[in-house]
Amino acid sequence: MALAHLMTGIQRVLIADDSIVSRHLLEATLRRWGYEVSVACDGAEAWAALERDDAPSMVILDWVMPIMTGPEVCTRLRSLAREQYTYILLLTSKNLKEDLIAGMNSGADDYIIKPFDQQELQVRLEAGKRILQLHEALLDAQKKLFKQATYDELTGLFNRSRILEILRSELARAAREQTPVGVVLADIDRFKLVNDTFGHDAGDVTLQQTALRMQSSIRSYDAIGRYGGEEFLVLMPGCDLGCAAQQAERLRLAVSREPLTLSGGSGSPELLLAVSASFGATTYYPGSPISVEGLIKLADEALYEAKRLGRNRVVTRQDQSAPAEFQHNCDAEPVTR
Ligand code: GH3
Ligand code: MG
Ligand code: MG
Repeated sequence: MALAHLMTGIQRVLIADDSIVSRHLLEATLRRWGYEVSVACDGAEAWAALERDDAPSMVILDWVMPIMTGPEVCTRLRSLAREQYTYILLLTSKNLKEDLIAGMNSGADDYIIKPFDQQELQVRLEAGKRILQLHEALLDAQKKLFKQATYDELTGLFNRSRILEILRSELARAAREQTPVGVVLADIDRFKLVNDTFGHDAGDVTLQQTALRMQSSIRSYDAIGRYGGEEFLVLMPGCDLGCAAQQAERLRLAVSREPLTLSGGSGSPELLLAVSASFGATTYYPGSPISVEGLIKLADEALYEAKRLGRNRVVTRQDQSAPAEFQHNCDAEPVTR
Protein backbone atom coordinates (compact mmCIF):
# COMPACT_ATOMS: atom_id res chain seq x y z
CA MET A 1 0.00 0.00 0.00
CA ALA A 2 2.76 2.42 0.97
CA LEU A 3 4.58 1.37 -2.19
CA ALA A 4 1.50 2.12 -4.28
CA HIS A 5 1.48 5.61 -2.83
CA LEU A 6 5.15 6.09 -3.61
CA MET A 7 4.59 4.91 -7.16
CA THR A 8 1.71 7.30 -7.72
CA GLY A 9 3.74 10.06 -6.13
CA ILE A 10 1.19 10.61 -3.36
CA GLN A 11 2.93 10.42 -0.02
CA ARG A 12 1.06 9.62 3.17
CA VAL A 13 2.33 11.40 6.24
CA LEU A 14 1.36 11.03 9.88
CA ILE A 15 1.57 14.15 12.02
CA ALA A 16 1.87 13.46 15.75
CA ASP A 17 1.68 16.58 17.87
CA ASP A 18 -0.22 17.32 21.07
CA SER A 19 -0.53 21.03 20.28
CA ILE A 20 -3.73 21.58 18.36
CA VAL A 21 -2.43 24.81 16.81
CA SER A 22 0.81 23.29 15.62
CA ARG A 23 -1.05 20.18 14.35
CA HIS A 24 -3.55 22.20 12.33
CA LEU A 25 -0.86 24.41 10.86
CA LEU A 26 1.21 21.41 9.78
CA GLU A 27 -1.79 19.54 8.46
CA ALA A 28 -2.95 22.46 6.32
CA THR A 29 0.58 23.07 5.02
CA LEU A 30 1.18 19.45 4.09
CA ARG A 31 -2.19 19.07 2.40
CA ARG A 32 -1.42 22.18 0.35
CA TRP A 33 1.79 20.47 -0.78
CA GLY A 34 -0.19 17.43 -1.92
CA TYR A 35 0.47 15.03 0.94
CA GLU A 36 -2.20 12.69 2.28
CA VAL A 37 -2.25 13.48 5.99
CA SER A 38 -3.41 11.65 9.12
CA VAL A 39 -2.98 12.96 12.65
CA ALA A 40 -2.26 11.69 16.15
CA CYS A 41 -2.68 13.76 19.34
CA ASP A 42 -0.22 11.94 21.60
CA GLY A 43 2.54 9.33 21.57
CA ALA A 44 0.16 6.40 22.10
CA GLU A 45 -2.02 7.39 19.15
CA ALA A 46 1.09 7.84 17.03
CA TRP A 47 2.32 4.39 17.97
CA ALA A 48 -1.08 2.80 17.26
CA ALA A 49 -1.06 4.35 13.77
CA LEU A 50 2.57 3.44 13.05
CA GLU A 51 2.55 -0.20 14.11
CA ARG A 52 -0.21 -1.03 11.62
CA ASP A 53 0.85 -2.83 8.45
CA ASP A 54 -0.60 -0.07 6.30
CA ALA A 55 1.07 2.74 8.30
CA PRO A 56 2.13 5.89 6.46
CA SER A 57 5.76 5.66 5.47
CA MET A 58 6.55 9.20 6.69
CA VAL A 59 5.93 10.64 10.13
CA ILE A 60 6.50 14.04 11.69
CA LEU A 61 6.83 13.41 15.40
CA ASP A 62 6.67 16.11 18.01
CA TRP A 63 9.29 15.54 20.69
CA VAL A 64 7.29 16.30 23.84
CA MET A 65 3.94 14.52 23.85
CA PRO A 66 1.77 12.89 26.53
CA ILE A 67 2.03 9.12 27.18
CA MET A 68 5.05 8.58 24.90
CA THR A 69 7.61 11.12 23.68
CA GLY A 70 8.66 11.35 20.04
CA PRO A 71 12.04 9.64 20.66
CA GLU A 72 10.26 6.84 22.59
CA VAL A 73 7.97 6.22 19.61
CA CYS A 74 11.09 6.21 17.37
CA THR A 75 12.87 3.61 19.47
CA ARG A 76 9.83 1.34 19.49
CA LEU A 77 9.26 1.68 15.78
CA ARG A 78 12.86 0.85 14.91
CA SER A 79 12.75 -2.24 17.13
CA LEU A 80 10.01 -3.68 14.86
CA ALA A 81 12.66 -4.25 12.18
CA ARG A 82 10.11 -4.63 9.43
CA GLU A 83 10.71 -4.57 5.72
CA GLN A 84 8.75 -1.38 5.09
CA TYR A 85 10.80 1.66 6.07
CA THR A 86 9.29 4.60 7.98
CA TYR A 87 10.97 7.96 7.50
CA ILE A 88 10.90 9.85 10.80
CA LEU A 89 11.23 13.61 11.12
CA LEU A 90 11.41 14.85 14.71
CA LEU A 91 9.86 18.22 15.39
CA THR A 92 11.22 19.95 18.44
CA SER A 93 11.65 23.22 20.22
CA LYS A 94 14.77 21.77 21.83
CA ASN A 95 17.79 23.11 20.10
CA LEU A 96 20.60 21.90 22.34
CA LYS A 97 23.10 19.76 20.48
CA GLU A 98 22.85 16.98 23.08
CA ASP A 99 19.07 16.86 22.65
CA LEU A 100 19.37 16.56 18.92
CA ILE A 101 21.98 13.80 19.22
CA ALA A 102 19.67 11.93 21.62
CA GLY A 103 16.76 12.37 19.19
CA MET A 104 18.71 11.05 16.22
CA ASN A 105 20.06 8.21 18.35
CA SER A 106 16.50 7.08 19.04
CA GLY A 107 16.22 6.29 15.32
CA ALA A 108 14.94 9.51 13.75
CA ASP A 109 16.14 10.29 10.23
CA ASP A 110 16.07 14.05 10.56
CA TYR A 111 14.81 16.83 12.80
CA ILE A 112 13.45 20.30 12.45
CA ILE A 113 13.35 22.97 15.10
CA LYS A 114 10.14 24.84 15.99
CA PRO A 115 9.05 27.35 14.94
CA PHE A 116 9.84 25.81 11.58
CA ASP A 117 10.49 27.52 8.32
CA GLN A 118 8.06 26.27 5.67
CA GLN A 119 10.60 26.03 2.89
CA GLU A 120 12.99 24.13 5.09
CA LEU A 121 10.28 21.65 6.05
CA GLN A 122 9.37 21.19 2.42
CA VAL A 123 12.89 20.35 1.29
CA ARG A 124 13.42 18.03 4.25
CA LEU A 125 10.26 16.13 3.36
CA GLU A 126 11.44 15.91 -0.24
CA ALA A 127 14.72 14.43 0.98
CA GLY A 128 12.68 11.91 2.99
CA LYS A 129 10.73 10.93 -0.10
CA ARG A 130 13.96 10.29 -1.96
CA ILE A 131 15.19 8.01 0.84
CA LEU A 132 11.92 6.07 0.76
CA GLN A 133 12.12 5.67 -3.00
CA LEU A 134 15.69 4.40 -2.71
CA HIS A 135 14.59 1.98 -0.03
CA GLU A 136 11.82 0.60 -2.24
CA ALA A 137 14.24 0.25 -5.15
CA LEU A 138 16.64 -1.63 -2.87
CA LEU A 139 13.91 -4.00 -1.68
CA ASP A 140 12.90 -4.65 -5.28
CA ALA A 141 16.48 -5.40 -6.25
CA GLN A 142 16.86 -7.72 -3.25
CA LYS A 143 13.71 -9.63 -4.21
CA LYS A 144 14.93 -9.96 -7.79
CA LEU A 145 18.31 -11.23 -6.61
CA PHE A 146 16.66 -13.73 -4.28
CA LYS A 147 14.52 -14.98 -7.15
CA GLN A 148 17.53 -15.31 -9.42
CA ALA A 149 19.50 -17.15 -6.74
CA THR A 150 16.65 -19.57 -6.05
CA TYR A 151 14.73 -20.27 -9.24
CA ASP A 152 15.57 -21.39 -12.73
CA GLU A 153 14.61 -18.63 -15.11
CA LEU A 154 13.31 -20.80 -17.95
CA THR A 155 11.18 -23.31 -16.05
CA GLY A 156 10.42 -21.50 -12.80
CA LEU A 157 11.54 -24.61 -10.86
CA PHE A 158 14.18 -24.43 -8.14
CA ASN A 159 17.63 -24.04 -9.66
CA ARG A 160 20.43 -26.53 -9.17
CA SER A 161 22.05 -24.94 -6.13
CA ARG A 162 18.70 -24.45 -4.35
CA ILE A 163 17.44 -28.02 -4.95
CA LEU A 164 20.78 -29.36 -3.68
CA GLU A 165 20.47 -27.15 -0.61
CA ILE A 166 16.98 -28.55 -0.01
CA LEU A 167 18.34 -32.08 -0.45
CA ARG A 168 21.00 -31.40 2.20
CA SER A 169 18.48 -30.10 4.70
CA GLU A 170 16.01 -32.92 3.94
CA LEU A 171 18.76 -35.49 4.60
CA ALA A 172 19.61 -33.84 7.91
CA ARG A 173 15.94 -33.84 8.88
CA ALA A 174 15.47 -37.45 7.76
CA ALA A 175 18.44 -38.53 9.91
CA ARG A 176 16.92 -36.76 12.94
CA GLU A 177 13.41 -38.06 12.37
CA GLN A 178 14.46 -41.52 11.17
CA THR A 179 12.57 -41.31 7.89
CA PRO A 180 13.66 -42.07 4.30
CA VAL A 181 13.99 -39.57 1.44
CA GLY A 182 13.36 -40.58 -2.17
CA VAL A 183 15.76 -39.02 -4.68
CA VAL A 184 14.89 -39.16 -8.39
CA LEU A 185 16.75 -37.87 -11.43
CA ALA A 186 14.72 -37.38 -14.59
CA ASP A 187 16.06 -36.68 -18.07
CA ILE A 188 14.03 -35.90 -21.18
CA ASP A 189 14.48 -38.52 -23.88
CA ARG A 190 16.12 -37.60 -27.17
CA PHE A 191 15.77 -33.94 -26.38
CA LYS A 192 18.59 -32.92 -28.65
CA LEU A 193 16.45 -34.12 -31.53
CA VAL A 194 13.75 -31.58 -30.58
CA ASN A 195 16.30 -28.78 -30.78
CA ASP A 196 17.81 -30.08 -33.97
CA THR A 197 14.46 -30.63 -35.69
CA PHE A 198 12.30 -27.76 -34.46
CA GLY A 199 14.80 -25.23 -33.19
CA HIS A 200 16.03 -24.02 -29.83
CA ASP A 201 12.87 -22.05 -29.02
CA ALA A 202 10.72 -25.15 -29.47
CA GLY A 203 13.24 -26.91 -27.22
CA ASP A 204 12.75 -24.24 -24.56
CA VAL A 205 8.97 -24.58 -24.70
CA THR A 206 9.32 -28.35 -24.45
CA LEU A 207 11.45 -27.90 -21.34
CA GLN A 208 8.95 -25.49 -19.81
CA GLN A 209 5.94 -27.68 -20.48
CA THR A 210 7.65 -30.85 -19.29
CA ALA A 211 8.74 -29.06 -16.11
CA LEU A 212 5.18 -27.88 -15.56
CA ARG A 213 3.77 -31.38 -16.02
CA MET A 214 6.15 -32.75 -13.42
CA GLN A 215 5.67 -29.89 -11.02
CA SER A 216 1.90 -30.34 -11.17
CA SER A 217 2.28 -34.05 -10.44
CA ILE A 218 4.54 -34.06 -7.40
CA ARG A 219 3.05 -34.22 -3.91
CA SER A 220 2.82 -30.99 -1.95
CA TYR A 221 5.77 -31.88 0.29
CA ASP A 222 8.04 -32.99 -2.56
CA ALA A 223 10.43 -30.59 -4.27
CA ILE A 224 11.60 -30.44 -7.87
CA GLY A 225 14.47 -28.48 -9.39
CA ARG A 226 16.20 -28.14 -12.73
CA TYR A 227 19.43 -30.01 -12.18
CA GLY A 228 20.99 -29.39 -15.60
CA GLY A 229 19.97 -28.76 -19.24
CA GLU A 230 17.07 -31.23 -19.57
CA GLU A 231 17.62 -32.98 -16.27
CA PHE A 232 15.48 -32.61 -13.16
CA LEU A 233 16.00 -33.61 -9.55
CA VAL A 234 12.95 -34.59 -7.51
CA LEU A 235 13.05 -35.03 -3.73
CA MET A 236 10.44 -37.10 -1.96
CA PRO A 237 10.62 -36.85 1.83
CA GLY A 238 9.24 -39.92 3.60
CA CYS A 239 9.51 -42.14 0.49
CA ASP A 240 11.21 -45.53 0.66
CA LEU A 241 12.50 -47.05 -2.59
CA GLY A 242 9.15 -48.58 -3.56
CA CYS A 243 7.36 -45.31 -2.97
CA ALA A 244 10.01 -43.31 -4.86
CA ALA A 245 9.64 -45.70 -7.81
CA GLN A 246 5.87 -45.32 -7.68
CA GLN A 247 6.05 -41.54 -7.59
CA ALA A 248 8.59 -41.51 -10.41
CA GLU A 249 6.20 -43.66 -12.44
CA ARG A 250 3.47 -41.08 -11.85
CA LEU A 251 5.81 -38.38 -13.14
CA ARG A 252 6.74 -40.48 -16.16
CA LEU A 253 3.07 -40.88 -17.06
CA ALA A 254 2.42 -37.16 -16.50
CA VAL A 255 5.20 -36.32 -18.95
CA SER A 256 4.36 -38.86 -21.64
CA ARG A 257 0.59 -39.34 -21.40
CA GLU A 258 -0.26 -36.77 -24.07
CA PRO A 259 1.83 -35.08 -26.75
CA LEU A 260 2.86 -31.47 -26.14
CA THR A 261 1.34 -28.73 -28.24
CA LEU A 262 3.93 -26.34 -29.61
CA SER A 263 2.67 -23.20 -31.25
CA GLY A 264 4.14 -22.98 -34.74
CA GLY A 265 4.75 -19.21 -34.53
CA SER A 266 3.60 -16.69 -37.15
CA GLY A 267 1.16 -18.41 -39.49
CA SER A 268 2.58 -21.92 -38.99
CA PRO A 269 0.29 -24.67 -37.73
CA GLU A 270 0.51 -26.01 -34.19
CA LEU A 271 2.78 -28.93 -33.67
CA LEU A 272 2.04 -32.03 -31.60
CA LEU A 273 5.19 -33.44 -30.10
CA ALA A 274 5.42 -36.77 -28.29
CA VAL A 275 7.69 -36.37 -25.28
CA SER A 276 8.98 -38.78 -22.68
CA ALA A 277 11.56 -38.90 -19.93
CA SER A 278 13.63 -41.56 -18.19
CA PHE A 279 13.89 -41.76 -14.41
CA GLY A 280 16.52 -43.03 -12.00
CA ALA A 281 15.31 -43.47 -8.43
CA THR A 282 17.11 -44.14 -5.18
CA THR A 283 16.39 -43.57 -1.51
CA TYR A 284 18.30 -42.33 1.48
CA TYR A 285 17.67 -44.41 4.60
CA PRO A 286 18.50 -43.13 8.08
CA GLY A 287 21.74 -44.59 9.36
CA SER A 288 23.35 -44.69 5.91
CA PRO A 289 26.71 -42.91 5.64
CA ILE A 290 26.02 -41.99 2.01
CA SER A 291 26.71 -38.40 0.92
CA VAL A 292 24.58 -36.10 -1.22
CA GLU A 293 26.97 -36.72 -4.10
CA GLY A 294 26.77 -40.47 -3.50
CA LEU A 295 22.98 -40.43 -3.65
CA ILE A 296 22.93 -38.42 -6.84
CA LYS A 297 25.47 -40.78 -8.37
CA LEU A 298 23.18 -43.73 -7.58
CA ALA A 299 20.17 -41.95 -9.10
CA ASP A 300 22.31 -41.09 -12.12
CA GLU A 301 23.43 -44.72 -12.55
CA ALA A 302 19.81 -45.82 -12.44
CA LEU A 303 18.91 -43.13 -14.97
CA TYR A 304 21.70 -44.29 -17.25
CA GLU A 305 20.36 -47.82 -17.00
CA ALA A 306 16.84 -46.57 -17.86
CA LYS A 307 18.28 -44.96 -20.99
CA ARG A 308 20.18 -48.11 -21.85
CA LEU A 309 17.09 -50.26 -21.50
CA GLY A 310 15.22 -48.16 -24.05
CA ARG A 311 14.19 -44.89 -22.28
CA ASN A 312 10.73 -43.77 -21.08
CA ARG A 313 10.99 -45.89 -17.92
CA VAL A 314 11.87 -45.86 -14.23
CA VAL A 315 14.83 -47.78 -12.86
CA THR A 316 15.74 -47.98 -9.16
CA ARG A 317 19.09 -48.29 -7.49
CA GLN A 318 19.51 -49.39 -3.87
CA ASP A 319 21.94 -47.65 -1.49
CA GLN A 320 24.13 -50.61 -0.49
CA SER A 321 25.53 -48.75 2.48
CA ALA A 322 22.06 -48.34 4.07
CA PRO A 323 21.38 -50.45 7.20
CA ALA A 324 20.56 -54.10 6.36
CA GLU A 325 16.90 -53.82 7.36
CA PHE A 326 16.35 -51.49 4.39
CA GLN A 327 18.02 -53.62 1.76
CA HIS A 328 15.62 -54.96 -0.85
CA ASN A 329 16.33 -56.94 -3.90
CA CYS A 330 15.12 -54.56 -6.55
CA ASP A 331 18.31 -53.07 -7.91
CA ALA A 332 18.25 -51.79 -11.42
CA GLU A 333 14.95 -53.51 -12.03
CA PRO A 334 13.00 -51.41 -14.48
CA VAL A 335 9.74 -50.49 -12.78
CA THR A 336 8.04 -49.66 -16.02
CA ARG A 337 6.88 -52.46 -18.31
P1 GH3 B 1 19.00 -38.87 -24.12
O1 GH3 B 1 17.69 -39.50 -24.41
O2 GH3 B 1 20.11 -39.86 -24.12
O3 GH3 B 1 18.94 -38.08 -22.86
O4 GH3 B 1 19.29 -37.89 -25.33
P2 GH3 B 1 19.21 -36.33 -25.35
O5 GH3 B 1 19.23 -35.88 -26.74
O6 GH3 B 1 18.05 -35.87 -24.52
O7 GH3 B 1 20.51 -35.91 -24.54
P3 GH3 B 1 21.77 -35.05 -24.93
O8 GH3 B 1 22.54 -34.91 -23.64
O9 GH3 B 1 22.49 -35.59 -26.12
O10 GH3 B 1 21.20 -33.64 -25.35
C1 GH3 B 1 20.64 -32.75 -24.45
C2 GH3 B 1 20.39 -31.46 -25.21
O11 GH3 B 1 19.71 -30.51 -24.37
C3 GH3 B 1 21.66 -30.77 -25.64
C4 GH3 B 1 21.48 -29.35 -25.28
O12 GH3 B 1 21.76 -28.48 -26.34
C5 GH3 B 1 20.02 -29.24 -24.91
N1 GH3 B 1 19.74 -28.21 -23.91
C6 GH3 B 1 20.27 -28.05 -22.69
N2 GH3 B 1 19.76 -26.98 -22.08
C7 GH3 B 1 18.85 -26.42 -22.93
C8 GH3 B 1 17.99 -25.28 -22.88
O13 GH3 B 1 17.93 -24.53 -21.90
N3 GH3 B 1 17.20 -25.04 -23.96
C9 GH3 B 1 17.22 -25.83 -25.07
N4 GH3 B 1 16.42 -25.55 -26.07
N5 GH3 B 1 18.04 -26.89 -25.16
C10 GH3 B 1 18.83 -27.19 -24.12
MG1 MG C 1 18.10 -36.26 -22.44
MG1 MG D 1 20.87 -35.04 -20.29
